[in-house]
Amino acid sequence: MPIDPADVEICLAPDEAAEPAEPTDADQAAAEAAGGAGATPLPMSAPIVQTSLFSFPTFRSLVKGLADERHHTVYTRGRNPTVQALDRKLAALERGDAAATFASGMAAVSAVLLGLLEAGDRILFVNQVYGPTLELARHLRRFGISHDIVLDLGPDAVEAAIRRETRLLWIESPGTMLFRLADVAAIAQRAASHGVITVLDNSWATPLFQKPLEAGIDVVVHSASKYLGGHSDLLAGAVVTSEECMERIFDRAYMLNGGILSPFDAWLLLRGLRTLPARMRQHEADALAVADFLRGHSAIRRVHHPIRSESPSPAEAGLTGTSGLFSVELVRGDFAGVEALIDGLRRFRIGVSWGGVESLVISPERGDNGAALEAAQIPRGLVRLSIGLEGADALIRDLDAALAASA
Ligand SMILES: *Cc1c(COP(=O)(O)O)cnc(C)c1O
Repeated sequence: MPIDPADVEICLAPDEAAEPAEPTDADQAAAEAAGGAGATPLPMSAPIVQTSLFSFPTFRSLVKGLADERHHTVYTRGRNPTVQALDRKLAALERGDAAATFASGMAAVSAVLLGLLEAGDRILFVNQVYGPTLELARHLRRFGISHDIVLDLGPDAVEAAIRRETRLLWIESPGTMLFRLADVAAIAQRAASHGVITVLDNSWATPLFQKPLEAGIDVVVHSASKYLGGHSDLLAGAVVTSEECMERIFDRAYMLNGGILSPFDAWLLLRGLRTLPARMRQHEADALAVADFLRGHSAIRRVHHPIRSESPSPAEAGLTGTSGLFSVELVRGDFAGVEALIDGLRRFRIGVSWGGVESLVISPERGDNGAALEAAQIPRGLVRLSIGLEGADALIRDLDAALAASA
C-alpha cells in the first residue's frame, strides 16, 4: 500500500516550534507592513532551544509551571520546545494523544517498564524480542518484576500464557532476527480482555507501515536511532500513548530517570523525519528486490522477510508496508561460513544497528553460543541484512560475488 499522504504531510510540515507563540509588537508591525496577519516569514526548521532552564517573569508564574512540568517549560529534563515539536510530530504519525522522546531506545523501554509496573507484576514477551529489552527484564527480577516469553504467536497460545500476575504484554511484530509476524489486533484484544497493558516496539515498521495504537495496542515504543533518525548519527527513543498512560510514564520515569533527548538530537530527528517517507519507499523496494534475488540462490537455505508470512499475512498482521531489514539462513551455516560471507561483502558495512543510509550486515553467531541460539529458536547460519540506499543492483552484485566466493 502507498504511504498515507497524511503521514507525508506530517513528516514534511514545518516544525511547530518554529511558530512564535505570541507575536511581538515588532512581528505585528512587520506583518501589517507585509500585507496582513500571518505574513511574518517563518523558519522551515525548528530553532534549537539549547537551554537547561527557562526563567519566569514572576515567582508566581514559576510556581504555576512547577505544578505541571509536563505542560510547562521549566527545566529541559521536563520540557523543551525543540523536543516538544518532535513529540507532536511523532504523536501525530502514530495517531496517539501524547509522545515523549528519550536519549535512546533503551531509555524509552526502561521508562515504559518502570513507569507502568509494580513489584509482583509479570511481563509477557511475545515473539523474538530485542535482546537488551529481555536483558533489562532479567535485571528487573531484583525489583520483584518477573517475565514469561511466548514464541507461539497464535492468539490462543498467547492468551494461554497470560497469568494472574501478568500486567503488561510486550510484543515485537515483526520479531527480531526472524521477522515473524503476529496478528497484533487479535492479541491486543485478548490482552485487553484480561486487563493487561499492551506495548509494541514499532522500530522495524515505523509509523508509516504499522499503526499499533489503531490496532488496539496501548503503548508504542521506538528506537529512533534506526529509521526515524535514519542517518546513523544519533541515538534516540520514543514512546507514544494515551494521555493517561503518558502521565504515569512522565511522572514516574521520564523526569526521574532523566534519560531525556537533548534539543540538538531532537532537531536532528526532526530533520530525519522530513525524508522518512522517501527513505522508507526506497528501503522497502530495494529490500524486496534483494530478498527476491537471495530466495533463488543455491547458497541460501531460507529468506526471513515478513512479506513471505502466510498466517498471518502482512496485511492481517497490521503491516501496510515493509522496511529494509531481513535475514537469510546460509546453507553453509557454521561460524566459518557466516564469517566468509560477511567478510566477502564490499558494499555492506559490518556493524550493529540498522535503518541508516549505508547497508549493514551482522549475524547472531558468535562461534560458541549455539545453545543460547537454540533456546531463542534462532537457526544456525543466520545473517541479517539492513538494506540502505545504495540501490538494489549494486547490493545484489555484491552479495552474488561474496556468496560465490564463500560457498
Ligand atoms: C535498537 C533497538 C532498540 C534499542 O534502541 P537504542 O536506541 O539502541 O537504545 C529497541 N528495540 C529495537 C527493536 C531495536 O532494534
